Amino acid sequence: MKKKFLIIFLIILSAFLFAGKGLFEVLHEAQFYEQLKNKYVRCDLCPNCCVLKDKEIGICGVRQNNGGKLYTLVYNKPISIHVDPIEKKPLYHFYPGSQILSLATVGCNLRCNFCQNWTISQSRPNEVQAYNATPEQIIEMAKEYGCESIAFTYTEPTIFYEYMYDIAKLAKENGLKTVWVTCGYINEEPLRKLAKVIDAANIDLKGFSEEFYSTYTTGYLQPVLNTLKIAKEEGMFFEITNLVIPDANDDPVEIRAMCKWIKENLGDEYPLHFSRFFPNYKLTNRPPTPIKTLEMAYDIAKEEGIKYVYIGNVAGSAEDTLCPNCGKMIIDRSGYMIGDIHIKDGKCEYCGEEIFGKFE
Ligand code: SF4
Ligand code: SF4
Repeated sequence: MKKKFLIIFLIILSAFLFAGKGLFEVLHEAQFYEQLKNKYVRCDLCPNCCVLKDKEIGICGVRQNNGGKLYTLVYNKPISIHVDPIEKKPLYHFYPGSQILSLATVGCNLRCNFCQNWTISQSRPNEVQAYNATPEQIIEMAKEYGCESIAFTYTEPTIFYEYMYDIAKLAKENGLKTVWVTCGYINEEPLRKLAKVIDAANIDLKGFSEEFYSTYTTGYLQPVLNTLKIAKEEGMFFEITNLVIPDANDDPVEIRAMCKWIKENLGDEYPLHFSRFFPNYKLTNRPPTPIKTLEMAYDIAKEEGIKYVYIGNVAGSAEDTLCPNCGKMIIDRSGYMIGDIHIKDGKCEYCGEEIFGKFE
């Protein structure tokens, strides 16, 4: 107990002493960039591929060219650390019922106009007071709070890649698991490297047209599809989330095309979450997603043969896990609460069907 208070005390003390005073501006060199002429650099971490002159900061707001070298401005600087149920990520097939230490820095490489976390994803390091927490301290916190895993989440973790990677590596050495909750907007080389140390991911597939991505997110669809295929190739465990927004990505034809693509390219086992939209940030002229729209999406996914489909952000709707063979309920869920689990050695207790995921 004493150790727990000491860690919290040190974090609060360091935030108090150093935040805003520039003393913790110890620069940490970024990975995945190329030096160009005249001290320009190109960041190769995500598909934005920002070309930056000296002192310029990338679109994500957290990677800066300093004298012809690229630095991350958020290493050791989380702005949010919480203990969450793993169901909140959402991950329904990865150690259900466990607690996960969840953290974020500021910044994001997209600008989704419906972002639920825009106050931190669209902020700059000098606009939000950060804690100071090294990877070693994050590992200690996870252990102190009895968390079996650590999530990089809330904003877009890709943009704090170096911090995430070092925590994930250290977590592995300490017997902890790590989870990447992402929009999937990352280039191939960093993704393949990350896949070697990350245990699971929830990858957003925000829509299924380039028009949707360019209108609502400032990104492109194709890089996200590439990420999903590479994550599968690398053997990463992941689940997929699709936030269904009225009059934006709720066309049944588009939803069916998305489900067909998932089945053809990834198979029928990766869990798919249709999540309810609530008006936020710049998208306040739409109502919350009608329940019947989410049920329509659910039915389409099931018709297309996807085995594990869920509706999220709606109490009591398609939140249990059903065995795809016998149809019996094998994980009883109520919001983020877990009831009985009828999976033994990775198989349905009733009929012996193998269930996709990690449960032991
Ligand atoms: S990670 Fe940031 S700096 Fe690098 S390409 Fe993406 S938006 Fe630009
Ligand atoms: S990718 Fe996620 S965190 Fe970034 S702006 Fe979009 S919704 Fe927000």
